Amino acid sequence: MSAPVTTAKRLVILGRQGSGKGTQAVRIAESFGCVHISTGDMLRAAVSAGTELGKQAEAVMNSGGLVGDDIMNGIVAERLAADDIMTNGVLLDGFPRTSDQADALERIFADQGVALDTAINLDVPVEIVTERMLARRRVDDTPEAIERRLSLYEEQTAPLLDWFGARDLLVAVDGVGSEDEVFARLSEAIDRSQQ
Ligand code: AMP
Repeated sequence: MSAPVTTAKRLVILGRQGSGKGTQAVRIAESFGCVHISTGDMLRAAVSAGTELGKQAEAVMNSGGLVGDDIMNGIVAERLAADDIMTNGVLLDGFPRTSDQADALERIFADQGVALDTAINLDVPVEIVTERMLARRRVDDTPEAIERRLSLYEEQTAPLLDWFGARDLLVAVDGVGSEDEVFARLSEAIDRSQQ
């Protein structure tokens, strides 16, 4: 494992499904030079490849539920130890989603001798994300799965805002607007939080 470079950023982006988080995460990671890790993309790739993980995750994902914390914490710990992330930093998208995952992330970074810089909450109201998700027609976007994911978000993921807030790591960004407007707000918020 290579020594961590202190300028590499370690960021988390939080936001309801359909908030535009995935699109913005790709742009932010590119602009700040860090590696974009989407746990949803990792799981979808495992499902497509038919791996053991994919087989375990598929039914849970299609029903809008959450894959177990132990599985997720293991996958992320392994990925975060890779050289590209140790050197360039990371933008985590879709993880942590529960307080158990947030605790695990804190331990993983502490073991590596690094720390999270900022958690961004990309805020878009429930009514707007519901409309967007129904319009995008992904295979796991049935109305029931959307409703389940949004209610799980309020139950399990929204409390993480307090978790990050208590550590003075949270920055809120208004996610309503054009893609470029939201990107500009996010970039500015990250720059400001590092000063
Ligand atoms: P996403 O693309 O982030 O919306 O994730 C798609 C699906 O993958 C979610 O609805 C969950 O079933 C699963 N998933 C992704 N990330 C996690 C995570 N950190 N913890 C548990 N399940 C996850």
